[in-house]
Formats: sequence, C-alpha cells, structure tokens
Amino acid sequence: MKSKLMETNYENFYADCPVCQHSNIFNRRDDLKTFNRISRMQVTCQNSECRLEFEIGNDLINSPSEMLLMEAERLIDIKSYMLSVIVSVQAVENHISQLLLLELAYKKFTNPNELNKLNELIEIYAKRTKKYGFQCQVNFLINYMLLDSKPLTLEDSLNYVSSLPEKQSTCKKEAITNSIDAYKGLATALYNTEIHRIRNKIAHKQALRPSGNQAEQVLEEASKIIYMSQNVFDSHVIDFNFYLNQCI
Ligand SMILES: [Zn+2]
Repeated sequence: MKSKLMETNYENFYADCPVCQHSNIFNRRDDLKTFNRISRMQVTCQNSECRLEFEIGNDLINSPSEMLLMEAERLIDIKSYMLSVIVSVQAVENHISQLLLLELAYKKFTNPNELNKLNELIEIYAKRTKKYGFQCQVNFLINYMLLDSKPLTLEDSLNYVSSLPEKQSTCKKEAITNSIDAYKGLATALYNTEIHRIRNKIAHKQALRPSGNQAEQVLEEASKIIYMSQNVFDSHVIDFNFYLNQCI
C-alpha cells in the first residue's frame, strides 16, 4: 500500500498512513537512515496502535540548496521569517561549497585510475575550507572565477586546493568590472550581497526579528545567486554520482 499524502524536504519525509491516516514524520537521518533520494521505500506507521507497513516514494530530485530554498519559502508562508533568512543564507553557503567541489574534483575526474587522487582532493578540500564562513565562501567563488588559468586536470586541482589560503581575501572592485562577460553578473551579485549581515543579526545575540519583506528579499537574492551560478557553471544537477558513473 502506498501513502497518498506525502511531502518532503531537506530533512524529513511527511507521509500519512494509508490505513489509520496518522501523519508520520520520517526523519531522513534517524528514521530512513539515508540521505539518498527515495524513489521507493517500505516504512512502518509510527502510530503504535497501527504499525502497518506502507510505501513512500516520489522524492524530490532537487539539489540540497534548492531544497533549502523551498524550505525558506515555506517558512515565509508560516511567517517564520527568522528561520527563513537563516535557511536562505545557508542555501547559498551550501551551494558554493558543492559547486566548487564539483568544478574542482568531480568534473576533473576522467580517469578511473585516479580514484585515490579524487578522494585525496575531496579530503584536502574539506580540511582547507572547513573554517570558511559566508564571506570567505563568496570570495572563494569570486577569486576562482577571476583566476587567469583555472585547473584543467585533477592534478592541477589537487595543487590548487592544497594551497588554498586560510582566508579568501576580497578582490578589488575593478577586478570584477574587468572580468569576462560570462562571469560579470554572478561576480557582481556575489560582491554586493549582504544577506549574511541580516542572518548574523538574527542568529547571534541580537536575535533580530526581520519583516516578511526582508525575508522575501533575502530569499530572492539567495535564489538569484544560486540559479545564476548554475547557469554560469552549467551545473543544474549537482549529482556527484553522475560524474562518478560516467567515468567508472
Ligand atoms: Zn497507520
């Protein structure tokens, strides 16, 4: 039997039991024990008097950052503006991190014999960027776009990632004005964004309560940055398995 009422987001799968109608919340980590997309899975109704097995599926196929944007939108609908801003900004942070990993590691993985090198790169990337906050992440992407010669091979990427600085500095405005047309729009949007400032006022001791308007503006800007960069880097699907399967 399959649940007829289902809704999913980044963290959870909401499904009504087809028999007792209990509204189940299956947490991806604790209950479903996978972060993979779920096209079909047998679950047990969480109503202790029912415990029926039924099927869930038809999971979202969006990237994590797109799912976070959808969540931010839902939070605006229920007037949770503080959380919405936090989630929108996080979507951008997550997106930049995944995008650069895709560019530097997975897209360069063309030889199955280099699997060890790929894993080494992923590990170094995680270590080097561990302390990168929002501003640093944004600068990282801008500085990468402004590189005169970008890494071409996995070996190039490994060298580049191994020498990533502790902090990414902010480039001069002229560097963006002089950048190639393909990058100008995205680089300018990244350079000018201040969405993290409002996020910080909310998340830290000030505990600012933003207006609905402010939350909508943050979501709009976050979406713009994410969709623009998907176009610039031709990475509409950030699916690492896709690149791995292509190679192996
Ligand atoms: Zn049930």
